[in-house]
Amino acid sequence: MRTDTIAAIATALSDSGIGIIRVSGDEAIPIVNKIYRNKKNKEVLFMYDSHTIHYGFIVEKDGSPIDEVMVSVMRAPHSYTMEDTVEINCHGGALMMKKILMTAIEAGARLAEPGEFTKRAFLNGRIDLSRAEAVMDVIHAKNQFALKSSMKQLRGSVFEKIKELREKILYEIAFIESALDDPEHISLEGYTEKLSDQVSFVIKELKKLLNSADDGKMLKEGICTVIVGKPNVGKSSLLNLMVGQDRAIVTDIAGTTRDTLEETIYLGDITLNIIDTAGIRNTEDMVEKIGVEKAKTISEDADLILYVMDSSVPLDENDADIMRMIKDKKTILLLNKSDLDEVVDLTAVNELFSNVSEKSSRVYMMSENLDEEELQDGNDTIVMVKISAKENDGMDKLVHLIKKMFFHGQISYNDEICITSSRHKEALLEALESMNQVCGSLENQMPEDFYSIDLMSAYASLGKIIGEEVGDDLVNEIFLKFCMGK
Ligand code: GDP
Repeated sequence: MRTDTIAAIATALSDSGIGIIRVSGDEAIPIVNKIYRNKKNKEVLFMYDSHTIHYGFIVEKDGSPIDEVMVSVMRAPHSYTMEDTVEINCHGGALMMKKILMTAIEAGARLAEPGEFTKRAFLNGRIDLSRAEAVMDVIHAKNQFALKSSMKQLRGSVFEKIKELREKILYEIAFIESALDDPEHISLEGYTEKLSDQVSFVIKELKKLLNSADDGKMLKEGICTVIVGKPNVGKSSLLNLMVGQDRAIVTDIAGTTRDTLEETIYLGDITLNIIDTAGIRNTEDMVEKIGVEKAKTISEDADLILYVMDSSVPLDENDADIMRMIKDKKTILLLNKSDLDEVVDLTAVNELFSNVSEKSSRVYMMSENLDEEELQDGNDTIVMVKISAKENDGMDKLVHLIKKMFFHGQISYNDEICITSSRHKEALLEALESMNQVCGSLENQMPEDFYSIDLMSAYASLGKIIGEEVGDDLVNEIFLKFCMGK
């Protein structure tokens, strides 16, 4: 198959030491050959061996030099795209990179679409779709976990697992189909028991992958966290402490955080996508009212609520309102200003809670040996942690608690595959549903062709993950999310 030749700037479009312009396609070498001269001013690029790098110049049509460069030549099929590829290393100024890109385009290349190099690697069969998606995940990785898991996926962990499950399913489809075609030679006698074992195995494996998906997504993309609490309790101070800079406006006038602020915070292995909301209280101020409403809406979609209270001021009706608002959410209660005299304690909190929700007896004080079982039984438990945002006290306890609540105490970097893509999760769910149908047919002793229909759909659903059963539209949609030059 012949392809046109594409070119793009592969490095960030900002001033840096080196910039790379990547050219790939059938005409990559002749096109760059037209604009490259070696130090003896000779047009020699086409003579270079694959995987060699050369000093020289990119030149204008009249031969005048544009920049001093190093060009590397990678001949098909041994390149990222499996096509002839030339990479031009030039000075990393945005203007210079654009100038060289334009020169390559004038010489016959076409500007690449986002992700088009990786799309070619996929279409030319060098990588499957799960590995192609991992390329972007590696680039966007925001924490150690995301980086490790996307590197694992790039090396083919998801591909291998899906391939293994598909092979098992395909074997059974083939067996059933052959037996139905040739009943004289292939008997289905006693087959259902064997099939039942295989189906149980695949279902167990699918469930394991699906179980990893929620943790995986949260680890990769961050826990959507909302800070709520009345004005002046120390929400902005807490956010600033976590971010490590004076991002939010901190004042001692109640109601200064008028709108919401968003930050991504990296606490070791955990990423929190944190939203600081306007202090929640009954207010007549229009601007503030909008903030309060927004806080309420955002809280509904949050994975975690950090409810900040001022331990030096008695609780009131506004706290009761907040408690009502968050009563079904995973919540950590932060009793702030522990450096001041305490007027709010666990009893006071539980008392107020008992008036607004059935969770009255379920607020616990965080202690070192907090029972893990209590934390894992859903959203019913609220744990209270004493902190002082001012004195930076209690933050380690908070991190420890979040890890316990979301990742059962530890973030595992073991060899288990972790599903981090919602597209993969959807396909796994489809496959699981089809396999459950096979289970049902087996239990009801349905005829064998029933099994193979559902086995086929499970096979097809899993194929979507690695890109074997996907249409052009989906492929285009996936690669359009890529950055330029990748
Ligand atoms: P927000 O309205 O809830 O965002 O509260 P701010 O973060 O603006 O804090 C309100 C006031 O409380 C400021 O004067 C802070 O310096 C003060 N403050 C915040 N945290 C603490 C704390 O832990 N101890 C003490 N003593 N003061 C605090």
